[in-house]
Amino acid sequence: MTGSSTPRTRFAPSPSGYLHIGGARTALFNFLYARRHGGVFILRVEDTDRERSTDASIAAIIESLEWLDIAWDEGPYFQSQRTAVYVAEAERLLREGRAYPCWCTGDELEAKRFKALAEGRKPVYDGTCRDRVAAPGDAERPHTVRFRGPKDGATVIDDLVKGRVVFQNAELDDLIILRSDRTPTYNFCVVVDDAEMRISHVLRGDDHLANTPRQILLYQALGYDLPAFGHVPLILGPDKARLSKRHGAMAVTAYRDLGFLPEAVVNYLARLGWSHGDQEIFTRDELVAAFNVEAIGKSAGVFDVEKMRWVNWCHLKALAPDALVRAAHPYIAAAGLPVPGDDAWLARALVTLQERAQTLVELVASGRYYLTDDIVIDPAAAAKFLTPAIAGPLHSLRDALASPGDWTVETITAAFHRVLAEHELKLGKLAQPVRVAVTGGTASPGIFEVLDILGRERTLARLDAALGRIS
Ligand code: GLU
Repeated sequence: MTGSSTPRTRFAPSPSGYLHIGGARTALFNFLYARRHGGVFILRVEDTDRERSTDASIAAIIESLEWLDIAWDEGPYFQSQRTAVYVAEAERLLREGRAYPCWCTGDELEAKRFKALAEGRKPVYDGTCRDRVAAPGDAERPHTVRFRGPKDGATVIDDLVKGRVVFQNAELDDLIILRSDRTPTYNFCVVVDDAEMRISHVLRGDDHLANTPRQILLYQALGYDLPAFGHVPLILGPDKARLSKRHGAMAVTAYRDLGFLPEAVVNYLARLGWSHGDQEIFTRDELVAAFNVEAIGKSAGVFDVEKMRWVNWCHLKALAPDALVRAAHPYIAAAGLPVPGDDAWLARALVTLQERAQTLVELVASGRYYLTDDIVIDPAAAAKFLTPAIAGPLHSLRDALASPGDWTVETITAAFHRVLAEHELKLGKLAQPVRVAVTGGTASPGIFEVLDILGRERTLARLDAALGRIS
């Protein structure tokens, strides 16, 4: 651990694609850890691989983190802008004899690798240049710089999640830290950055576990304090294979487009591989208060979109009306529907749908009839409920609703009951045809409420259209 008592964590994405579910969870755990302990959360873009890194990916990662409100306190730092720092540290290791130039060519290394594999040996670098005495002219010839690692002993990780993990140093290669074009390599940059940025806790996917002993040896050679490491199991698909595209959407923003709330995605991801008793639903403040590394699970979490939909439903139904309106606005527009100017009215409409939808996309689709008069009448529902037999009662209701006076749930209810008595009908016999007439389908919130929100004029127009359709 570093000397400082303020925890410093980081999320260090390689920008070669979108931010996927697993990356978002890694970011979240680091963010929550920092928040929980009054620490600092850093964003560092690991863009040393210029071939694979793209600006579009950097933008997508930042957009996703912003959407999830996983806010960083420092950064973003870009490794591509820090080459001089890494080269200086590599040169320091060279001067101190902790690194050495290596003149083996790519072809030679490939041949050695091939031979080792053919002989059933692990293809670690054979150390040809490790103790080579430089010959005249060597310095001018292209060479890489290799870390001079210990050849005996073991490197131990007391992992916060996995417990003690031991690696034999003899199995670890003398890592190339500078390529022949003097660009630094991945593991070296990570170590220099984590040390320079005074990272106290490295929480990352366990696909990085094999890098950690190499990184620890570099820390030691460079004379840096070690951070604490926690390697989090990967996320699996429902078939228990590593989560991949064939399990559905991987990009975090795809879930935004599907109508998930960011707080629900954060809640779901936090619980995927971490637990706090039986609690499933957390506000952000509750997550910050409860998050602890000890309760990160040792086995992989299984991604379950049905559960995420349920978590989303829980958050959706808990939204206050004004928050619901704000959340729904972009989805109304995205559905190609006009966004009502009256937020108070829209809030009343959306609140009637709030507990019936699992996503914002579903919510907007289910309330289409509030948002446009261009409603689509389901033909099967029309055939069943908009029949000549109901024309009389529907007509009476139309006239009762048309008579001047207040338009409230109470007056609408009274009008219904007058018509039901007059025609000796049960409520359902009339409510369902009305529902089809005004919403286009057979499922909606309470019909009196729906009419109240639609208003007199729009209700009458739709009843008239239905009557026209029947005759
Ligand atoms: N850049 C690495 C990645 O995106 C993460 C490295 C780390 O967390 O140490 O997988």
